[in-house]
Amino acid sequence: MKKRIGDILMEMGFIDGDQLKMALMETKKTGSMIGDVLQRLGWVTEEDLQMAIAVQSGAKILDTATAEIDHSLMARIPIEFVTEHGMFPFAVENGVLKAATINPFDVIARDKLTRLCGQRVETFIAPKNWIGKAIEVYYKTAQSLDDEINAITYSGAGGEATEDNRIIKLSGLLIDKGYVLGASDIHIVPDNNLVRIYYRIDGVLHQMYLFAKKFQQPLLTRYKIMAEMDISNPNIPHDGRIKYQSSVGTFDIRVSTFPTQLGETVVMRLLIYNKVVGDLKNLGLEPEDLERFNRTIKRPYGLILTTGPTGSGKTTTLYTALMAINSPNINCMTVEDPIEYVIPTIRQTAVNVKAGLTFENALRSTMRQDPDVILVGEIRDKITADLAMRAALTGHLVLSTLHTNDAASAINRLLDLGINASILASALSMIVAQRLVRTLCPHCLVRQAPSESEQAIFTQNGLTAPTEIAKPKGCDHCFQSGFRGRAGVYEVIQVNRDIERLVFSGALHREIEDMAKQAGTVLMFKQALKKVARLQTSLEEVMRVIVDYA
Ligand SMILES: [Zn+2]
Repeated sequence: MKKRIGDILMEMGFIDGDQLKMALMETKKTGSMIGDVLQRLGWVTEEDLQMAIAVQSGAKILDTATAEIDHSLMARIPIEFVTEHGMFPFAVENGVLKAATINPFDVIARDKLTRLCGQRVETFIAPKNWIGKAIEVYYKTAQSLDDEINAITYSGAGGEATEDNRIIKLSGLLIDKGYVLGASDIHIVPDNNLVRIYYRIDGVLHQMYLFAKKFQQPLLTRYKIMAEMDISNPNIPHDGRIKYQSSVGTFDIRVSTFPTQLGETVVMRLLIYNKVVGDLKNLGLEPEDLERFNRTIKRPYGLILTTGPTGSGKTTTLYTALMAINSPNINCMTVEDPIEYVIPTIRQTAVNVKAGLTFENALRSTMRQDPDVILVGEIRDKITADLAMRAALTGHLVLSTLHTNDAASAINRLLDLGINASILASALSMIVAQRLVRTLCPHCLVRQAPSESEQAIFTQNGLTAPTEIAKPKGCDHCFQSGFRGRAGVYEVIQVNRDIERLVFSGALHREIEDMAKQAGTVLMFKQALKKVARLQTSLEEVMRVIVDYA
């Protein structure tokens, strides 16, 4: 049966339950259509209604909060097409171009886009103002930001703007540019006669601008003021936070300064929650691992650990899991140091040792707040580990991270900390080890047949050697790096009865790993080789990142 328009409008967030009830009563009284009533009451616009009707007839809606936008599409689809048809291409998946539109029945526009990109096109409905903003940000802003930055930094004379205003403008433009490029960090680094501005994109630093030395001190001071830092003492490192808001986006920035011989360096981490925490499906877990992970996070108890070195994406995985299970009916709480991403519907606590709030007592207090799910930023010591286990055994789902190279090592690490083996065996439900590998830029990757030694790597790991693998080259789409974006590589151990028994009996790392393999665990290096065979990444990249496996 078709869904009713009123229900669709409610699902899309245009109206709430009370409004729907009132409108339905009105339709009974007057015999009018629900859409007409809602429009007359001013609760929905004609456009909202059109979208709801499109959804009713089977069109897909774009989840604009989590949509990932592929910046490289800007270069392929001209702005003229996008503005004329209000159709915004945002991603390519499995050879299909995905485009946002307010009118999914616009066949003419879709055919035109198919001809332009040479790919099948799938359309998704999105609100008109979202599409307008996306075109503004992704098509117009990147170029105009550069123009504005250059206008400030190249011109000697200030025009009518005062020096202060120009610095204020420049400081914001540099952040906007980082946002548009999808950068995770911006570095302001003093050099002898100039200032270098770097952006970290997909895990790699790119030098983006060189400014004259005279910009160094004013920019530094400006960022310090924005981050509410003490500007009187330049000889010690400072930390601060900016609540950033501009026409381009609203997000938090974590700022730190560090004194060097040539002056203070500034590093800004852009905490763009929507870009980071998306759908579980986008984490890059292989289908069978995704299914196991999904099942485990929906249990009401147990401990789930993600492991890996700093920067391996383990916190992102946990946040994504947390968001997947978060609902108004369950109490999600976190204890973090520091809070990475501020999520409005979750009760987050930051450890503050100076103020006496340690991991230990924050976690103890959290337990008294009747939580259902607890995210513990990191297990570092026996006390935190004990508390996390106890919580997991008493009807709470506990998510946390640990610094170990592979999944099985997590067990040894916790036993080394002095955790009781039987408690560990019963508390632990899953371990996910992970790394991030850079993915090849689809515009410039070079395909080639693998050499004999390269083939051997596949066969030694129990895989058929592919006929083709790929290497990075470099082009304008990827800042000449040959890579665009990153993908997670995982190793998932589900703790079943057999593994529980092994943990309890103090088994060796190798025995646990072998048992896990029997139960379906695919080791990380092998998972990564599958990505090489799919031309998603290169063999060298896998060797670089998963070095302790090679
Ligand atoms: Zn490229």
